[in-house]
Amino acid sequence: MNKKQKIGILGGTFDPIHLGHLILAEQLAEKLKLDKVLFIPSASPPHKELNLVSSAKDRLEMTRLAVEDNHLFSVSDIELKREGKSYTVITIQKLKELYPDSELYLLGGSDILDEIKIWREPQKIYELIRVVIGVRPGFNRIYKENEFFKKSIIVQINGLEVSSTRIREKVKKGESIKYLVPPKVEEYIKATRLFTSSNGI
Ligand code: ATP
Repeated sequence: MNKKQKIGILGGTFDPIHLGHLILAEQLAEKLKLDKVLFIPSASPPHKELNLVSSAKDRLEMTRLAVEDNHLFSVSDIELKREGKSYTVITIQKLKELYPDSELYLLGGSDILDEIKIWREPQKIYELIRVVIGVRPGFNRIYKENEFFKKSIIVQINGLEVSSTRIREKVKKGESIKYLVPPKVEEYIKATRLFTSSNGI
């Protein structure tokens, strides 16, 4: 019998996608021997103000540009096609239907451990799927008492200290984002004038 395909799922606002996301996915894929990582931009992030987030089209396009040179990575618009809020628990149920013969892993960075308690049905998420958290050096100690830390598969990664918020701030101030996002994403942001004050972000 064929071995089950192992698929990692990395959801996010990806506004914009940056090298921290890509390094996280690459290192988790390597350590867990994943066959594929699906990047899933969220439609209307339940915990973020909608008017502070770039359009679905821009975020999807940047995510596509960022992953196109990695044969393990692909992008899914499953959350963008769905009406209403992007609840992770619903996405997982849908993906389990779409990939019934695969082993699915929900991937995330350590900030997920703070956020997951306010997500819809966090316990159910853990019943449905293995949750894998990429933790950067020094963060283990902080999360040792976190109930979700104990239930997750913890993988040490050499992360990059970067966030989408920081990148948006830099663009707004006219500062360089070279080496923080892939070159094609940098070009896209320049060409579309995303995150400049005229776009209101
Ligand atoms: P924002 O600054 O807008 O909150 P973000 O940079 O945290 O955005 P998200 O799209 O919210 O990016 O994150 C998607 C996933 O990537 C989450 O699981 C998050 O933990 C993880 N992540 C984000 N930045 C990093 C990083 N620098 N290193 C490792 N994982 C990261």
